[in-house]
Amino acid sequence: MNHLHHLNATCAVCGEACRFTIPDAASSVGSRDLDTRPAEPLRSTIYAWVKRCPSCGYCAPDPGNAPEGAADVVKLPRYRWQLDARRFPGVANTFLCWSIIQEDLGTPARAAWASLHAAWACDDREEDVPARICRKRAADLLRRAWEKGERLAPGAGMDEAILTDLLRRAGRLRKARIMVNETLEQNPDPIIIDIMRFQIRLIDAGDRKAHTVAEAQRFRQPVPL
Ligand SMILES: [Zn+2]
Repeated sequence: MNHLHHLNATCAVCGEACRFTIPDAASSVGSRDLDTRPAEPLRSTIYAWVKRCPSCGYCAPDPGNAPEGAADVVKLPRYRWQLDARRFPGVANTFLCWSIIQEDLGTPARAAWASLHAAWACDDREEDVPARICRKRAADLLRRAWEKGERLAPGAGMDEAILTDLLRRAGRLRKARIMVNETLEQNPDPIIIDIMRFQIRLIDAGDRKAHTVAEAQRFRQPVPL
């Protein structure tokens, strides 16, 4: 159990004084999931990664700051609908609202991350259909980021590995398989090769569950002597 403390902030959109209960900073011990989700104890602090102003509904990692234009997005019908969308867990709605802000402000890579985090919040509640919707949205935003020349992660092949896992876990197995093939043709780093070969096994087995990078490395094919 993480220790908790309070964070006071003044909402940058409406000026309301807000108080949030958040865990002390945590790191992760152990392998990440194939979609980069960290291990515990950091994993379970996800509910505090983004916060919602109880007065105006502004959702952000730090509600005390707002990018220019955010106040207008918060008023949009689409944003207001997402804020309390019943089909999604509350934490997922908060991430999706932050994702809508980033999408509207023209930063699709950040919007994709927020949508992936929303999927993790759905996973924790075992809400499969909403999780798939969040992953589909994250995959679409990731491709839009690429079109703008942006990447989600700095390492070569990492975005492709994330996209493959998004597609597999969203049930888009054929598209996931195509992504694997395209990536392996690029002769990526050994770790990406391990991940992609492991993804082939999962895709062929119709496995849509979460798996770790450590599992992918355990399944590494033996190197011929
Ligand atoms: Zn507010």
